[in-house]
Amino acid sequence: MSIRVTTVSSLVRTIIAERWKQSYYNRAKKTWNFGADKAGIYTELCALGADPDPEKVEAIIGNRSWTTICCSSCSLYATTGAVEVGYDSDSATVILCGNCLLHALNLACYYGLLSTERLQEMFNFPR
Ligand SMILES: [Zn+2]
Repeated sequence: MSIRVTTVSSLVRTIIAERWKQSYYNRAKKTWNFGADKAGIYTELCALGADPDPEKVEAIIGNRSWTTICCSSCSLYATTGAVEVGYDSDSATVILCGNCLLHALNLACYYGLLSTERLQEMFNFPR
C-alpha cells in the first residue's frame, strides 16, 4: 500500500508530454496506441515546454483530465491537490480531496478506529 499527496501544480509541472508518451506510445512496437492523433498531440505538448500553461494543455488534449485531480469519493475536481492511496501498479487507486479525507477521518473517529485525542496529537490542535 502506498500513499502520497499529489498537487495540481505538480501535475502540470511534470513534463506532460512525457507522461502522454508513457501512456500512449508502445516502445516495443514503436507505434502509438489508440489512434494516430496521439502522436500529433505529443508533438504539440512537446512544443509547450517543461512548465506548460494548463489551459494550453487542456486545449490540445481536449479535456482537463491531465491537468486536474478528480476525487474518487465526491467526483469534484480538487483545486489544490489530493491524497492518493494505492497509487502503485499493484493496487486500485483511491484519490481523496481534503474534504473527503476529513470526512473519512471523522468516520474513523466515530467508529473507534482512531481517537480524537490521537488526531489532536497528530495535528497539534489546541485543546
Ligand atoms: Zn472529495
